[in-house]
Amino acid sequence: MSKINVDNITNIVVSGKSGAGKQPRIDVLVEEFGLEQLSTGDIFRSYLGKFNEYRYTGSLENFWNEDENQFISDDEIAKGLGTGDKDVILGMKAKYFVDKGLFVPDYITNALFESFFAKKDYRGQVLDGYPRTPEQSKFLLKILEKNNSKIDFVLLVDNTDERIIARTVKRRICPKCKKVYHLEYKPPKDGKCVCGAEVIQRFDDTEEKIRSRLNEFQDKALPALNYLKDKGISVVNVPGHLEEFTPENIKNSVMSEVEKLY
Ligand code: AMP
Repeated sequence: MSKINVDNITNIVVSGKSGAGKQPRIDVLVEEFGLEQLSTGDIFRSYLGKFNEYRYTGSLENFWNEDENQFISDDEIAKGLGTGDKDVILGMKAKYFVDKGLFVPDYITNALFESFFAKKDYRGQVLDGYPRTPEQSKFLLKILEKNNSKIDFVLLVDNTDERIIARTVKRRICPKCKKVYHLEYKPPKDGKCVCGAEVIQRFDDTEEKIRSRLNEFQDKALPALNYLKDKGISVVNVPGHLEEFTPENIKNSVMSEVEKLY
């Protein structure tokens, strides 16, 4: 039993390179502090799913204005797609960036994140994959202050690029309940999740796209973290790689570091 008073914990940010091993640590925080997980990657994937269901076969480049470095207007996009459905348009915009392993621009990410965070009254969340740019950090602190909420600490999951690449290409996820598997370390039984669904490879889990995401981490996510640190939010470092990857070891490696804060 943790000595931390769970009622004092409002929100926790989990940061780390894509593929560093965040999910098992998030599971610990969710369990120990009675929080929910709010993941911008999952939000984007759900919008992408809505776009994919629409089965548009043209090129997404049609919707990008190279000279102005932005999308054409939503009205023009609606005409091109043949639908004005807001979710489909947002899904197209997300896909345009996610497919390239690039970050979705801040104005889209912030608006989408806030609408989901507001539904949770700005509390009780483990923020996963957000904030990932200094602009997002600034926006997050602004909406927290406005809504009388807070971030208690950032949990940073450390791992090396080479280890991440080796791990991520063998990662498999359950499209239904989002459980994460690994072909060697945590193989799904008969290719199936415990919930019964067939596990799949994330389409952006290729080496090229992983390298692009790792670069984005250095360039943007680290400065985002430093922004929070500069504002006085504590950062707790935990190892993403454990020699013995057991539930007990994962929990201890997280909680022993978090407890040092309290
Ligand atoms: P993840 O599952 O966290 O690796 O996210 C998958 C993809 O979603 C990323 O490669 C980005 O394209 C996009 N994404 C997720 N979170 C953010 C964010 N906070 N800012 C910008 N793009 C994001």
